[in-house]
Amino acid sequence: MPNLRESVAAALNSSLDSDDLHERPVDRLGAFSKSERIGTLLWRVKYDNDAKSYKPALLLLTRLFRKQKESRNFIHSICKCVLDEWLMDKCRHCGGNGQVIQAQTLVQCSSCNGTGIHRFKDRERARALKMNLDQVEKLNKRLGQIHDYLGDIDRKVNVKTNIELEKWKDYEN
Ligand SMILES: [Zn+2]
Repeated sequence: MPNLRESVAAALNSSLDSDDLHERPVDRLGAFSKSERIGTLLWRVKYDNDAKSYKPALLLLTRLFRKQKESRNFIHSICKCVLDEWLMDKCRHCGGNGQVIQAQTLVQCSSCNGTGIHRFKDRERARALKMNLDQVEKLNKRLGQIHDYLGDIDRKVNVKTNIELEKWKDYEN
């Protein structure tokens, strides 16, 4: 499968009766739904543009990262900052392709060095969090941990969905 994430998103949008395909959209949905709740919510928001899943995903994330006695609003705002960064992670210059056309030639994007990823700077975070740069600097480690968590969950949903799909193929053979 070329891109499981896009494929699941397509399945979420499609009708469930296209049985001319060996691996039907409904199979992908079943596999997808076995992933953790936060993972499926995140996939819905990011790969299916499902706005309704944004709020529950953010609430779960806030609950996960809030330490005892910490202000809920504070953790909510830093989780929102990271979630928004994760959702809008494409390089602003090349749109995530890693390449741009220059003088009729395709060249590596100089903004992202070909990665296609937008790296958020402290001043962007300061704006999003309504904090000053010193405050943001102190929070960067924490923001990085939440980013790592989102990356891990994203990979886990991908792996788990693939495993479930393989199981079905075994039953069918
Ligand atoms: Zn770029």
